[in-house]
Amino acid sequence: MKVMRAIERCRTAALGGHVARCENAACGHTLISYNSCRNRHCPKCQAAASRRWLADREAELLPAPYFHVVYTLPSKLRDIACQNKRVVYDLLMKAAAETTLAIAADPKRLGARIGITAVLHTWGSALTHHPHVHMIVPGGGLSFDGTRWVSSRSDFLVHVKVLARLFRGKMLAMLTQAHGAGLLTFFNTHAGLADKRTFKRFIAPLRHSKWVVYCKAPFAGPQQVLRYLSRYTHRVAISNRRLVAADDAGVAFRWKDYRADGAARWKTMRLHPHEFIRRFLLHVLPKGFHRIRHYGLLASANRAESIATARALLGVAPPAAGQQEPPDSTPETPRVLPCPCLRCGARMIVIEVFARGCEPRWRPEPSRMDTS
Ligand SMILES: [Zn+2]
Ligand SMILES: [Zn+2]
Repeated sequence: MKVMRAIERCRTAALGGHVARCENAACGHTLISYNSCRNRHCPKCQAAASRRWLADREAELLPAPYFHVVYTLPSKLRDIACQNKRVVYDLLMKAAAETTLAIAADPKRLGARIGITAVLHTWGSALTHHPHVHMIVPGGGLSFDGTRWVSSRSDFLVHVKVLARLFRGKMLAMLTQAHGAGLLTFFNTHAGLADKRTFKRFIAPLRHSKWVVYCKAPFAGPQQVLRYLSRYTHRVAISNRRLVAADDAGVAFRWKDYRADGAARWKTMRLHPHEFIRRFLLHVLPKGFHRIRHYGLLASANRAESIATARALLGVAPPAAGQQEPPDSTPETPRVLPCPCLRCGARMIVIEVFARGCEPRWRPEPSRMDTS
């Protein structure tokens, strides 16, 4: 309900706002802005957060090829994940990260400590429940004595069968342990799984089934990594761009059908509003859940130090201090807007602030509205 209310009220008078006018009197361009909800599930409120996040990450990029690995939770476990979001999503991210770190630490493969940035996505293209973890992994890491940078071969992580097997073992072991510790709850048709033996029988076939781990070709360079990250990190289940039409009878949106090829992949789906909202809300995360996480070298405890060491070993200069900060980064009600006048480029000065639930007192002058 909180998420729904936030999204409904975002950038409307319900949240208040401000009126700004161009300081160039000859121009006088005036703009009403409504405050945003800043809820992390709101499709309108992700752009600013994603820009800030990217600027921070840019300073951490290493001159190495980056791999993109995707770990997917088997469909048989999706309902259990849905009924135990906090626990199972957490284990999914943990199992995927531990798998990648272990493969990298193996002296036969890389023999180094790597850094991982992982993002949890819970949706498929048609808003269905499809939990998977996107992972960005540099092709190299620090030697365990911390004195050398170890570069990977170009096929590092490409042998996904090895990753999939290890991931399967870890995930199932973690799930079994969580069940034993009484951390999982089961409802409806799954209520029977609360019983230890029933649960064991349920997951037994998963020990022999094929789990899906996917490794895309390494990125061409750090810039591609950032562009990629910007598309994935702060995404919500659906972007406003994909919405085609909405009325009382249905919501139409574009979705990608991975079974089709080329341009035919993009299709339009129409759902009853209740079903659309149900699917959207499937992807609301538990309060405080971190869906972007850093592991290994990038884990927060030693992050700055590890990155500095890696950069020194790779012979790259530390990023210039005091990189341009965006002007005024907390402006729900700034005196001067961060963006200049769209018509003449002069500063936009706030001339009125209005409270939640109020409309601005400012009204466009009739002469300006009159187009005749
Ligand atoms: Zn919002
Ligand atoms: Zn102007």
